[in-house]
Amino acid sequence: MTKQVKDVAKELNIKTDELITKLKDLGVEAKDDSFALDKKTIELITQDLNPPEKEKEEEKTDKSSEKKLEIIEIVEGSTVKEFAHTLAKDPAEIIQMLFKLGEMVTINQPLSEEEIIIVSEEVGFEAKIISGEEEEDKELEEVVIEGETKPRPPVVTIMGHVDHGKTLLLDSIRKTNVVSTEAGGITQHIGAYQVDHDKKDITFIDTPGHEAFTAMRARGAEITDIAILVVAADDGVKPQTIEAMDHAKAAQVPIIVAVNKIDKPEAKPEKVRQELSQYELTPEEWGGETIFVDVSAKKNQNIDNLLEMILLVAEVQELKAVPKGNAYGNVIESRIDKGRGPVATVLIKHGTLKIGDSFVAGMASGRVRALFDDQGNKVKEATPAQPIEILGFNSTPKAGDIFRVVETDKEAREIAEKRALKQRLLEEKKKSHLTLEDLHRQIEDGNIKELNLIVKADVQGSIEALRDSLAKIDKEEVRIKVIHTGVGAVIETDIMLASASNAIVIGFNVRPDAKARDLAEKEKVDVRTYKVIYQVVEDISSARKGLLAPRIEEEIQGEAQVLEIFKVPKIGVISGCKVNNGFVNRNSNIRVIRDGVVIQETKIASLRRFKNDVNEVKEGYECGIGLENFQDLKQGDILETYIEVEKPRE
Ligand code: GDP
Repeated sequence: MTKQVKDVAKELNIKTDELITKLKDLGVEAKDDSFALDKKTIELITQDLNPPEKEKEEEKTDKSSEKKLEIIEIVEGSTVKEFAHTLAKDPAEIIQMLFKLGEMVTINQPLSEEEIIIVSEEVGFEAKIISGEEEEDKELEEVVIEGETKPRPPVVTIMGHVDHGKTLLLDSIRKTNVVSTEAGGITQHIGAYQVDHDKKDITFIDTPGHEAFTAMRARGAEITDIAILVVAADDGVKPQTIEAMDHAKAAQVPIIVAVNKIDKPEAKPEKVRQELSQYELTPEEWGGETIFVDVSAKKNQNIDNLLEMILLVAEVQELKAVPKGNAYGNVIESRIDKGRGPVATVLIKHGTLKIGDSFVAGMASGRVRALFDDQGNKVKEATPAQPIEILGFNSTPKAGDIFRVVETDKEAREIAEKRALKQRLLEEKKKSHLTLEDLHRQIEDGNIKELNLIVKADVQGSIEALRDSLAKIDKEEVRIKVIHTGVGAVIETDIMLASASNAIVIGFNVRPDAKARDLAEKEKVDVRTYKVIYQVVEDISSARKGLLAPRIEEEIQGEAQVLEIFKVPKIGVISGCKVNNGFVNRNSNIRVIRDGVVIQETKIASLRRFKNDVNEVKEGYECGIGLENFQDLKQGDILETYIEVEKPRE
């Protein structure tokens, strides 16, 4: 393929004469502007004019300057004046810029989104348009933290399987390391306590377990710096160990493993290490990155070493706080105290809290009347990461609420009231979490790059098979990340984790239990149940592209529990049931659930109350149910009734 000199000159944006001279340098004699150049020559001359290194370098600097653009938030519909103020520019300058772009605007004229974006870029910012509502939110939550930072103590949460010794470990750490004071070591449980090791403080959250941890996270409170995963050496890794680990990982909190109960003769600490290695918690001594400490909470063995390791991990994190200024933190616990009224324990993040300070925490407000430390001593002020019990609330705040000091009582009251109002409005149109339906739009809007999944299934094999299939899905638009898996029904903590991590819950041959279903509805978490792997992969693949097929959705009608089994000659098995919630209809589909696992799906063959055939039985009533093609009912089975309805896509 050849091109004429004049055309190539045009493409390269140089004069024809110039090109002819350049060609001569390359040893090509072009007689006139219609001289034909071959492909090779065109390539050579193009390269000569645009050296590739330079081009690349230019591109690089371009990109890095693109990256450097600072993001500023601009309220939609801002006027030229307001916009200029946010950018710290003269309004006249903005007007001029827009004029050059062919827009005539006046100082009090609201700008379009496009105008805001273009002008921001022009002056070196990336504009993020926020709604007026968001702006108001920010005002409510705005806390200016500036000033000199100082190191602060780490905040530690203890997690692990039930009975592995979390409570005893917390007690033994506390008993042996709390600095004794005049109060004489009266154990006050205020939700958190601080110990001293090697003259350095460590704060422990006194409510062990990942449930409280994740519930707080779901409320936006990221309090914990380090998670201690307690595993009993005589029992090994258990389902809740994994659950706790997943919850800590989802929060990106470093984990230290405390292998507990090593005083027991049957303790196998090595086995715990080996088991956890399979979950990416490989001990340091085996070349991994996780610190394992063998302890005995009962015999107080090696607790010092555990504290040492906590300080080591904390040091790497370089935890800092601004100790001066108005206090700001999170509520850990609250209760109504007989005689003292509402009290709450707060963990200060920044600033110093003093008696007489006006404050707001969630929908509660007040003024500090008295402060107590974790040993019940009256104190005058509290500093970062120091748990402190506060008297002076007008009502009890919620665990996880943001606590902050404001200038006046009036301001505190007003913010609390505004929040209460907002809360009421919010309840009505609760912000929903990610749904598969919405996935494509969220990807396009650049809101998500990872799709977090929680997978619950009937058997471990299904989980592995699902994992394999999910790994094969194209990762171009969105990376699929399974943040937690487990065998058994979808339970409340799964929903909490999903809510805190904006995840979708996949139930494979298992169902959410009633509590989980309620919570999912409240938290607007998308829970999807499947019977074939193919369907899971298909749904996720299509959701990525926004091509989710219209789906048949189930509407759960109710739930009955099998109380008794009757064998009726010639008819078969009839179960005596009680309808626990909703209703059972003669035409309902039925799902038999045993321990959270679906074992059969079928239809009703007979529905009776006393001796009579009936159409429907309501909540609270007993009835006899016979199923089509299924005789293997057992006492305690749950019969879930549902119908299928076609839901159009949004
Ligand atoms: P949690 O459910 O994880 O809070 O467990 P607990 O702290 O309540 O402990 C469960 C049981 O294990 C209790 O009977 C404890 O006394 C016992 N236990 C805890 N730590 C140790 C330990 O280090 N050694 C021995 N032998 N028993 C322990």
